[in-house]
Amino acid sequence: MKYISTRGSAPALGFEEVTLAGLGSDGGLYLPEAWPSFTRDQIAALAGLSYVETAVRVMAPFVAGSLSEEELRDLCTQAYGRFSVDAVTPLVQLDHQHWLLELFHGPTLAFKDVALQLLGLLFEKFLSRRDDHLTIVGATSGDTGSAAIDAVAGREKIDIFMLHPDGRVSDVQRRQMTTVRAPNVHNIAIDGSFDDAQALVKQMFNDPGFSSRFRLSAVNSINWARLMAQVVYYFYAAVRLGAPEREIAFSVPTGNFGDVFAGYVASRMGLPVRQLIVATNVNDILHRALSDGDYSQGKVVATATPSMDIQVSSNFERLLFDAGGRDGAALAEQMRGFEATKAMRLTNAQREGAAGLFSSARVDADGMTLAMRWAYEGGGQVIDPHTAVGLCAAKGADIDPAIPIVTLATAHPAKFRDAVERATGTRPALPARIGSLFDREEAYTKLPATFEAITGFVAEHATARG
Ligand SMILES: *Cc1c(COP(=O)(O)O)cnc(C)c1O
Repeated sequence: MKYISTRGSAPALGFEEVTLAGLGSDGGLYLPEAWPSFTRDQIAALAGLSYVETAVRVMAPFVAGSLSEEELRDLCTQAYGRFSVDAVTPLVQLDHQHWLLELFHGPTLAFKDVALQLLGLLFEKFLSRRDDHLTIVGATSGDTGSAAIDAVAGREKIDIFMLHPDGRVSDVQRRQMTTVRAPNVHNIAIDGSFDDAQALVKQMFNDPGFSSRFRLSAVNSINWARLMAQVVYYFYAAVRLGAPEREIAFSVPTGNFGDVFAGYVASRMGLPVRQLIVATNVNDILHRALSDGDYSQGKVVATATPSMDIQVSSNFERLLFDAGGRDGAALAEQMRGFEATKAMRLTNAQREGAAGLFSSARVDADGMTLAMRWAYEGGGQVIDPHTAVGLCAAKGADIDPAIPIVTLATAHPAKFRDAVERATGTRPALPARIGSLFDREEAYTKLPATFEAITGFVAEHATARG
């Protein structure tokens, strides 16, 4: 499988190179040259398979040429063996139409583990083949950071620098990052928002003077391997609910557009997806883009769903590229315009390409609270605020009652205990696998949100290119 960049001028690369690189050298994002496609029979044959076997079938075409099926199975067995339930991503029924897909049974309690546990192993495998060293720089609104750090802590060939917005992640999220004491883990709290952190990371990649000194890589969802791993649970859930005979809709609490893009990929591969509901909080750039074609950056408002407090969604570029006819040169031009003015209009082709599959909803604090209460009082389920945003959008969607709607439950409620307690009066207990999170000592460095401060720190602590 070859991968091409959304901006048309980076070289086409194989899976191994794309995984290690993260971002394209032209500033674009990689995606497959052509989508693999599954027949109805191939989808039907997934019924009853374990999560790991499903993962091997779904991901095999994407890693072809870089990993054998045996190697892929081995990595999946290791990665998903760290989840606390056999099903890895179990479905829970709420009522006749609504389901939750619980994606938070990994080591750090959010769906990011599904992809990052695998990505950590892929990095290790590919680095040992080439005897190379990797410097990961990432920005996190909370969950990516903890999942990435868990996945790479203590690995010899990797240093990780994780930027989080100071004071804007939950105490559980922060402690899951800052209490991991491994020599290769560096936590940085920046004085700014998640978007500031993400912009700094992009700037590091795009600065040739800096990026040539290290082998930089990304663990944000700009890394294709992450999206690939997330495609699996769309198949796994849909098949359990009757696909390919029956269509399934998904509601996805969305920030950087990675998780819902994986649903789009599943649909391009042949999974009968009726609709993908993009649920945003009041930071609603994606809702405005999908409903009116207006992709213009607002000011980030802090909410009870910090992992969705985003005004620039990196992965949206992948949709604009694919749905808009795959014209890299035109998209590069459009994105340059966006970067200069912080606003752009979607083209008609992009809007029409998205319209058949996507709908969107903006959910405010009241909608979120009502959904949390409904799940608790009606279905006995304590859900986290992000999941509640998705569920509120699902309940408001206009979809045939015969079609199951699966809301992706993206975080364990204990990760956001204060917000859950405010809405439901119940304080979720931390699962035992989190251990003594509140007894362990924290370590992190506070830095101003400037390029000089961050690159100075990284240069001082990272292993330079050999
Ligand atoms: C990351 C995250 C999201 C947003 O996912 P994207 O792939 O960035 O759209 C939603 N909910 C939770 C709990 C998250 O950690």
